[in-house]
Amino acid sequence: SEKGKIAIIGSGLIGQSWAAIFVGAGYNVTVYDIDDKQIEKALANMTKSLKSYETQGCLRGNLSAEEQSKLITGSHDIKACMENAIYVQECVPESIEMKKSVFGELDKYCTKDMVIASSSSCINSSQFTENLNHKTNMLIAHPVNPPYFLPLVEIIPAPWTATEITNRTRQLMEEIGQAPITLKKEVPGFALNRIQYAVINECWSLYKNGVLSAEDIDKVMYEGLGRRYAFIGPLETMHLNADGIKDYCKKYAEGMQKVSSTFTPPPIEYDAATADNIQEELTNIVPADQTQTRKEWRDERLAQLDKLKRNK
Ligand code: NAD
Repeated sequence: SEKGKIAIIGSGLIGQSWAAIFVGAGYNVTVYDIDDKQIEKALANMTKSLKSYETQGCLRGNLSAEEQSKLITGSHDIKACMENAIYVQECVPESIEMKKSVFGELDKYCTKDMVIASSSSCINSSQFTENLNHKTNMLIAHPVNPPYFLPLVEIIPAPWTATEITNRTRQLMEEIGQAPITLKKEVPGFALNRIQYAVINECWSLYKNGVLSAEDIDKVMYEGLGRRYAFIGPLETMHLNADGIKDYCKKYAEGMQKVSSTFTPPPIEYDAATADNIQEELTNIVPADQTQTRKEWRDERLAQLDKLKRNK
């Protein structure tokens, strides 16, 4: 491939997803893992996934699955993996000690123009890059599972990340068909999880207060709000549901404030008794031996939605 080289550090679920996305855009990808056997497993798995995307008609890019698989190589050496890479995506398990030790390694082989991004779901990079020589080249690029079909990527620079590195990461994400957003400063949970937790907290309260069954709570999302939010966000929804957002506030703010004043203040307790009850209801809907089938069904539905959205 004429395009540059991408290094993926950690070849689990997320490392494999990133690799599939980058080869879809024609990049050469080298995958490293501390566990030698895992690299072989990951290569076999990625070949299988790309083939299955091709069969389902949702493979990205112009190359065949076979050609895309050939763009991925495994490496048992972190230095060789990073050599000549333009962009490094770290995908090791979510722990601050792990991120610190891996970023210490990556720092040794980082060059002047290299971008080093972490896939971390909730640890801000200022917690593990502060003392590194190349800290201006490092930031978070947080994907959403499954990243092949949910393109959002949260880019979060540390206070010392160079603007040029942040901008280049955003451009690269756009180019490979992801949908980047850039946080202007670090906050706990970034944006997606802050919004998600606000939703979960209210769902928990509604259940605990005996207002709705678990099934009906989820239905509010997948038959109502979720359908709308697949196309327009909450702010534009307000904008369109009145004569602009200012008019919306004039008409509805008082009611919204009244309702909002009845919310359970955080931190909400995820108590064991409520968890037990929800577990029982959900197990009736998705029995324990059907969760894998259900996950596959979910990914297939998300693939269909992605197709619809990409054809807009
Ligand atoms: P995973 O457990 O599937 O994969 C982690 C991989 O890292 C394993 O293959 C492991 O062998 C390897 N590894 C461990 N130590 C290493 C080291 N020192 N050097 C190189 N490789 C090492 O985990 P995952 O679900 O792919 O998550 C990876 C990162 O992505 C985490 O930070 C996680 O929070 C983030 N993330 C996960 C999801 C998700 O839904 N799973 C979504 C978004 C972001």
